Amino acid sequence: MEKPVSILIIYTGGTIGMVNDPVTGTLVPIDFVHISDQVPELRRFGFTMKTVTFDPVIDSSDVSPDTWVRLAGTIYENYEKYDGFVVLHGTDTMAYSASALSFMLQGLEKPVIFTGAQLPIGVLRTDGKENLITAVEIAAARENGLPVVPEVCIYFENKLLRGNRTVKYSSEHFNAFVSPNLPPLAEAGLQIRYNHNIIRYPTVRRRLTLSDSFDTDVAVLRLFPGIRKETVHAIISSPGLRGLILETYGTGNAPTAGWFLEELGSFIGRGGIVLNVTQCQAGGVEMGLYETSAGLLRAGVISGRDITTEAAVTKMMILLGSGMAGDRISSSLSRPLCGEMS
Ligand code: ASP
Repeated sequence: MEKPVSILIIYTGGTIGMVNDPVTGTLVPIDFVHISDQVPELRRFGFTMKTVTFDPVIDSSDVSPDTWVRLAGTIYENYEKYDGFVVLHGTDTMAYSASALSFMLQGLEKPVIFTGAQLPIGVLRTDGKENLITAVEIAAARENGLPVVPEVCIYFENKLLRGNRTVKYSSEHFNAFVSPNLPPLAEAGLQIRYNHNIIRYPTVRRRLTLSDSFDTDVAVLRLFPGIRKETVHAIISSPGLRGLILETYGTGNAPTAGWFLEELGSFIGRGGIVLNVTQCQAGGVEMGLYETSAGLLRAGVISGRDITTEAAVTKMMILLGSGMAGDRISSSLSRPLCGEMS
């Protein structure tokens, strides 16, 4: 007889498992037993399912690189024992965590599916039940003995999105996430339709390796008309800063003022790394298209192409933490490592 599919559910917290605190009235996380009681349907799959619960469970605003180390470490330690992994996580920083794990788990050949909810699972109209049930089904999906989606993904509402391409888009709608520059890897309707052309399949068999060292000496500088020289200077010259994500206009454009380019130039001259990402919801950076980005190119700013800020931040932190030399970090930033940019 064939062995039943085995799934490890890692519960970190988030709205999916929250209840109203009777004293404060605010939403606070509860344990997984309460969640599974609300979704008895899970047992009908016939899979072997185990759960690991973070202690304490957290609202995802409290996520930090330590959380990612714990999360990726749990997957790494249990990698051989399970066919797939489901991560229950708050929606607020889910795109950061999914991005981080995609860079940490190199050589991944099994599904790691993040999901959560906009409404707690105990609420009648919750989106959490469907999200959890379908995430488990996707994590368990196999064709010809191999996992259908061997990637870190976010499943939400009815779409499966590549984790490092995803942004939280709505704080209100069940359809909370979008992947503006990549179509969904799957859509769930009457059936779950997989987009096999977009899913990344391993070309050579590799062992899973875990990178779990982060350097948080990074900053995100979002430009706006009227931004002050002192503000830019304060951020760029903050002690220890090694990497700057510059959120620019349109196709990667920025002010042409001398002081601005000099600030960036001197940071890069001191060994700092600047990655250009667009403020636009979709599309990417194309430096040199306008004169307003040619100066950035000359100063040594790297194009982030169509990467999301969430993926840019986590990629920068993990590359800086790797101990690689600056030129290797720059070259890794300018090319896709695991499908995070086109
Ligand atoms: N504040 C919650 C969290 O991110 C929101 C959610 O889960 O939807 O943990």
